[in-house]
Amino acid sequence: MKKITVWRPAITRICAILLILEIIFEYFSINAMAAPKTRFKDVPIDYWAYNYIEKAYTDGALDGTDIFSPEGSITYAEFVAMLIKTFYPDRLIKQFVNENEEWYAPYLKTACERGILTNTLSASMDYGNHAIYRYDMVQIIVKLLEDKCVVLPSRQQMDIAVSQISDWNKVQEDKYWQYYVANAYAMGIFDGVPGWKTFHGAKNVTRAEAAMAYVRVSEMVTAGQNDSRSFQIIFEGDWNAITVSGYKESIEKEFYTVYPRLWARWGNAAIPKIIHVYAKHQTEMGNAVGLKQAIYDEEQRLWYPYISICIEFANESPKERILSHELTHVVQNYISFQSTWWVENMAGYGRFRYCAWADKEYMDSFDFYDMPDEALLTWKYSPNDKCHWFLAYLDNKYPTTDTQYGLIDAIHWAIRRDELKTDGGIVQNDETLNQIVKQITGYGNIELLRQQYRQELINKTWAFNGFYGYVDNYLTENLSAVNNPSYPTIQEVKAYLSK
Ligand SMILES: [Zn+2]
Repeated sequence: MKKITVWRPAITRICAILLILEIIFEYFSINAMAAPKTRFKDVPIDYWAYNYIEKAYTDGALDGTDIFSPEGSITYAEFVAMLIKTFYPDRLIKQFVNENEEWYAPYLKTACERGILTNTLSASMDYGNHAIYRYDMVQIIVKLLEDKCVVLPSRQQMDIAVSQISDWNKVQEDKYWQYYVANAYAMGIFDGVPGWKTFHGAKNVTRAEAAMAYVRVSEMVTAGQNDSRSFQIIFEGDWNAITVSGYKESIEKEFYTVYPRLWARWGNAAIPKIIHVYAKHQTEMGNAVGLKQAIYDEEQRLWYPYISICIEFANESPKERILSHELTHVVQNYISFQSTWWVENMAGYGRFRYCAWADKEYMDSFDFYDMPDEALLTWKYSPNDKCHWFLAYLDNKYPTTDTQYGLIDAIHWAIRRDELKTDGGIVQNDETLNQIVKQITGYGNIELLRQQYRQELINKTWAFNGFYGYVDNYLTENLSAVNNPSYPTIQEVKAYLSK
């Protein structure tokens, strides 16, 4: 008896639980048939941007819990942060985080480094919490694609695309935006989006539109990044006046080998990949044998660099490889930097590292020094001394790695962000520069590093033997359509030069 009385209520309870479960299950399945449950309450499955929002969410580009607010606006900083964290995690991780700055400082700094901001870094920082305009959105997208070496539409494709924009006359009122709006339309970024035949440049971007932009950019980057056709040399001037056989061909080869390397390390969206190179007579070049100059492109608000090579010098010294030196000036593209030594020596180093000591055939006795050599020991902050070996030392000791910038790159990007205004001259007293040096090397300034380098040469605790095994080689290897450097050693170069 006792057993049964206990058992009966138990089985009744089980039946009741099963019944409830069944009701709940039925409720859910009826509900599911009526309207499928979506990730966000305010993004129904038939919403035009549903798929874009799903993808942006699963890729980690945009977040939200329950509510996405697709029609809500997105701020300038949020839009940039969305792109930076998904397309530049390798660069974002290298930024120093300063607790006193806005949360978005590392994102905007990375975007500034990549040349994709629509204004200076400080102006963009002030503007971070404002809703972003569609004009800004298209410019940022187009610059990001340029930075990823995606080949952009032709002028003809752009002309066809703009003929379909109903308010193109409005876009034309400010010349500056035409290039970006036309490119974005020609790339089909807005295809199929309701209402996009009218651009409405001054309207704010919604979160749904931001998700759409992210997905379209993501597809284009996946399909077309690192396109080797991005790089192009255009010969101008009197190349026939250079009589050394095969000179023009060797310049062409040097360009397609060295420029992608220089660009991969120090370039960004603001540095053109199509470069005009002029052959000019000495009379047109003053004292220079090679020149980098720039003209201001009103339409893109960019300094567009071009190079000139002296015909008489090329005929006399065809193996000097001045193109690589000038191409390093192109990727520097420093606008208002005061330099007594950095600019010229870095240009020398670009040539030294990514041409002369990258591939044996570019080697010349000019680039060969025994260590220690008096010229290396006495090097001091002048524009044309033997600093390449010191810079090689710095890259060896304080390299850029997966997670942080080395000394040379940290200086370069600080100049490009307009944070560093001078190279400290002979006295090395620039506070910003010294701060960078301290942060990365622990030494108070470059001069202390130079003395250390000098001592290491004397003690023979460091010597240059080519760039094989340098930690930062990953930056300039495995580039599309460019051979990896062969990194000749001293022994190989000696043997090559004595032939
Ligand atoms: Zn120079």
